[in-house]
Amino acid sequence: MTLVMKFGGTSVGNAQAMRETAELILQTRAQWPKLVVVVSAMGSKPIKVTDLLLRGAHAAAAGDGDTFRRVAVELRQIHYEAIDGLLDPEGERQRTLSENEQFITRYETLCQAVLVLGELTPRALDAISGMGEQMSARILAAYLRQLGHPAEAIDATELIVTDNNFQEAMPLLPRTKSKTRVRLRPLLDQHILPIVTGFIGVTEGGITTTLGRGGSDYSAAILGQALEAEEVWIWTDVDGVMTTDPRLVPSARSIPTLTYREVSELAYYGAKVLHPKTMRPCVENNIPLRIKNTFNPTHPGTVIVADDQNGNGGIKAVSAIKNLSLITVEGKGMMGVPGIAARAFGAVAQENVSVLLISQASSEQSICFATPDASTEQVIAALEAAFARELQRQDIDRIWAQHDVAIVTAVGAGMRGTPGIAGRLFTALGAHGVNIIAIAQGSSECSVSMVVDGADMATAVTHIHALI
Ligand code: ADP
Ligand code: MG
Repeated sequence: MTLVMKFGGTSVGNAQAMRETAELILQTRAQWPKLVVVVSAMGSKPIKVTDLLLRGAHAAAAGDGDTFRRVAVELRQIHYEAIDGLLDPEGERQRTLSENEQFITRYETLCQAVLVLGELTPRALDAISGMGEQMSARILAAYLRQLGHPAEAIDATELIVTDNNFQEAMPLLPRTKSKTRVRLRPLLDQHILPIVTGFIGVTEGGITTTLGRGGSDYSAAILGQALEAEEVWIWTDVDGVMTTDPRLVPSARSIPTLTYREVSELAYYGAKVLHPKTMRPCVENNIPLRIKNTFNPTHPGTVIVADDQNGNGGIKAVSAIKNLSLITVEGKGMMGVPGIAARAFGAVAQENVSVLLISQASSEQSICFATPDASTEQVIAALEAAFARELQRQDIDRIWAQHDVAIVTAVGAGMRGTPGIAGRLFTALGAHGVNIIAIAQGSSECSVSMVVDGADMATAVTHIHALI
């Protein structure tokens, strides 16, 4: 019986949080002797170690040699305070301090190199941005040892093998499986607790990669799949997956069960509580996934399973993503011209920009799609180049962007069989003066997404939430 548990940034955010986390680990271990722990970088909100690491590195690339030094001071403060709060001077403290110091010194060295080169490659970013997990894992493992429980901090570079798509690397399963088993199983057999860094992996050539922002959830699922775990638990700072982001709507409630599909849609469309790729390894191995609150551990949280028999037939949750642009390609001459959509999305993909939502008018006179605001100019330029001939012939009249839009998504598997849901959604928004710019239904039919003006996002979420 193997269990993989992941603790997010706030769960290891300071000495007190780490104490509670350690207690939960030890309690859980009584029922699950084969327990693997995955940790994020320290992140007591609003200061997140990963953000700090990135801020210093980006500033260095822009020629600023001060910010990363100030960041290093702050990193020392955060980590040393936790170490001082947790570890006895006679025991683990000195060793853990010097381990952490090595990472911070290395951070300064790397940023200095970035400053000199004036360039921050994705590969350098990955080497830098995963250091937070390497530090937090060492602190937590040392504290568990101090409590008398053998524990070992393990860098996921020893376990998770990925392709070399830095910043958003894909795990290579067969290699990951064999490495993970060879490294972790002997520890589990000897009752040593592995404390594994989330977020990072390694290429076959030994270069550090990362799995994308928030990727520690994904790390836990990958290890769960590699070890054929019975369950994967994600510990965070809220009572599971909620009906919407509680920061947006304080009356949001915890949802007892969701299906993999439902939670995938939510995560993909902005619910930050889970990394969108987390579900895939769990679906493949049919591993139930639980989301629980480190700061309220007796709350059952959310369990995510293949099929939810108790679905209520309607909307279960609503999520939102902002800072998007809606890009439209339109022209009367597009009708019947084959391959316009394929070429448009090909051009966007070439720029390595992801398309979050697509909507096409049935007249085929326009297609529109949402992409991150930051890449709008680049996408328009790429489309103008791809369709230069059609623009000249006026088969395509214009390619344009509406900036600052948001996608608001209502999710619920039961929506499929329930008539009138779309009508209720549109009526609710209309009644509160929210104009719907475009609509798309998820292909799994368990979500409906609406594009609205960025300024209307909170109103839209609030009034869709009121329908749940
Ligand atoms: P961690 O560091 O534990 O991974 P995250 O900040 O990544 O934590 O994710 C948890 C946060 O996700 C919550 O504090 C909450 O603000 C936000 N969130 C957004 N949408 C939802 C939702 N539908 N349910 C729960 N939390 C949500
Ligand atoms: Mg997270």
